[in-house]
Amino acid sequence: MNILIFGPPGSGKSTHSRKIVERYGLTYISSGDIIRHEIMKGTELGRELERYIARGDLIPDTVVNTLIISRLRRDRRNFIIDGYPRTAEQVLAFENYLYDHGVMLDLAMEIFISKEESVRRVAGRLICPKCGEVYHVTYNPPRVPGVCDVCGSKLVQREDDRREIVERRYDLYINNMTPIIKFYKKHGLYVRIDGHGSISEVWERIRPLLDYIKAREVPAQRLPESL
Ligand SMILES: [Zn+2]
Repeated sequence: MNILIFGPPGSGKSTHSRKIVERYGLTYISSGDIIRHEIMKGTELGRELERYIARGDLIPDTVVNTLIISRLRRDRRNFIIDGYPRTAEQVLAFENYLYDHGVMLDLAMEIFISKEESVRRVAGRLICPKCGEVYHVTYNPPRVPGVCDVCGSKLVQREDDRREIVERRYDLYINNMTPIIKFYKKHGLYVRIDGHGSISEVWERIRPLLDYIKAREVPAQRLPESL
């Protein structure tokens, strides 16, 4: 089973990706993780990536394509990709790769939430600058408001999680993803999951769909030896 997962800020796609990896044994390929890993390694490419990010520039499509596709060469099947493709150029490179390697994509799944919900979830996040524990003012509040349960430090809001910034990230997501969603819709691969509600409510929308796709797979060993 080969799937793409995407969603606006606060959609819960990382949480659900983890659950999907666990249940279906897929390899999780995240463009963000791959980029961070490259930067950590301190390679020439890593330093280049760091410069793009520091300037607030988008990383060029050719660079992103190379990173993701070289990762895919290691795990050709049974993957879930998070954060890719994001542009028409990336879709083209990815589709070419799949075609050349005879790999079929089963699903392009979006976990969708409204802008209000996105702001509510993300702008309510509080983190502990000392131990990294994450809280939410409504969904996961600390015992004492504004104070970390674990280490007693004063909680802060990440710059990226401020309301205006979340709104801008949300709009950017919609703008970037609209043509990509249109492409996967046209190919009958797009499914929009309603991301509102609790984690288990959303999971119960995802699980039956993936169980169904999984059940349709023909295990290689059951194929006849000759036709
Ligand atoms: Zn703490």
